[in-house]
Amino acid sequence: MATQEVTIKCGSCKVPVEGPANPQDNDRFACPRCGRNDTLENIMSEAQESAMDQVESHIDSMLTGMARSSKMMSYKSGARHQKQRRFIVEMKM
Ligand SMILES: [Zn+2]
Repeated sequence: MATQEVTIKCGSCKVPVEGPANPQDNDRFACPRCGRNDTLENIMSEAQESAMDQVESHIDSMLTGMARSSKMMSYKSGARHQKQRRFIVEMKM
């Protein structure tokens, strides 16, 4: 499986967080703009939640689009308001 390069960004500044090369779970990463920081472990779990938000809203908009062009299907958008995350990951979909 190809490894996918992901960039983790500060949730409010939208700039990539900075940390050591070859980081361990307990190494700290910080936003170069606002100084918000946490351990890689915490940042990753927060970023994963942001990824799930994005997948969910992507699927939601896909289903909404399908339902719109189909008489057979109806779909009520269930997108919830996305939570503000401290750290986010940007995914290409
Ligand atoms: Zn920041």
